[in-house]
Amino acid sequence: MKATMLHGARDIRFEAVAVPSIEKPTDAVIRIAATCVCGSDLWPYRGIQPLAQPTRMGHEYCGEVVEVGSAVTTVKPGQFVIGSFFASDGTCPNCLAGYQSSCVHRELVGNAQAGMLRVPLADGTLVATPEMPPASMIPDLLTLSDVMGTGWFAAEAAEVAPAKTVVVVGDGAVGLLAVLSAKLKGAERIIAMSGHPTRQTLAREFGATDIVAERGEAGIARVMELTDGVGADCVLECVGTQGSFTQAIGCTRKGGHMSFVGVPHGVSLDGAALFFAHIHLHGGPAPVRRFLPDLIDLVWTGKIHPGKVFDLELPLEQVAEAYRAMDERRAIKALLRP
Ligand SMILES: [Zn+2]
Ligand SMILES: [Zn+2]
Repeated sequence: MKATMLHGARDIRFEAVAVPSIEKPTDAVIRIAATCVCGSDLWPYRGIQPLAQPTRMGHEYCGEVVEVGSAVTTVKPGQFVIGSFFASDGTCPNCLAGYQSSCVHRELVGNAQAGMLRVPLADGTLVATPEMPPASMIPDLLTLSDVMGTGWFAAEAAEVAPAKTVVVVGDGAVGLLAVLSAKLKGAERIIAMSGHPTRQTLAREFGATDIVAERGEAGIARVMELTDGVGADCVLECVGTQGSFTQAIGCTRKGGHMSFVGVPHGVSLDGAALFFAHIHLHGGPAPVRRFLPDLIDLVWTGKIHPGKVFDLELPLEQVAEAYRAMDERRAIKALLRP
């Protein structure tokens, strides 16, 4: 079997590895139907997050179960399943509180850009679809493994609700799906911050009512203009840089809610500035597993098409080109089929 390996900055190779097998009784092995490149994969790809050794890549996946360990009871071979990038047991206090991505036994599922994948803690991690999905539904289902679940968490954590004004900072796949999530949660006004024409178009299609192309102080000033000088009720930070955090905090009204779901890199917040910002903050690695049943239902019944964020589809062996296209912002998100 061949799989995706990052050897160093911008050095992606598709090379031979061992076929995964059941290692623990709680494991499942799945045949990947589709996987993809994530915005967060670009941090190590660009060398911003250095690597100690060549590293297997990929944490977004869906596919058919081929084998389960002796302790697995909720999924079985032949089922189509989706799981989160963190495996979780589903039984510890953090899982029961709905924070499966901070499960006390969590394990990163990090080998998904491959033909086959071992998923630990299968009972707590994988959710099966009602039956085998049609091929056309697979891109929509794949987004539930991370970006749609993360966009949904951004909206949930910022307490998006009917009649609210929402700002989404970030026009990557998560930001765009945060717009869709805000729309589904009934937001009245959704301001998407994006300077990129094709992404602006998709943001509007997903429910954005306003686009702000300016960034930084100019972007904050524009949001203030649009919100009678008070800022937005809910601000969803979907990038993870100092600039995006500063922009998000600056766009939130006093007493408002800001969520942050992009993995922060080099972000530091000034205590006094945060004190006087007077906002609610909630974020972290999205507990995607919590939302899987509801989101699978929305896709299965045709109510949402989050797979529209995939604007490039390649065979898995061309994974290096998928990374290049996303790195150069030629693609929003690249889907890979083994
Ligand atoms: Zn991801
Ligand atoms: Zn747990």
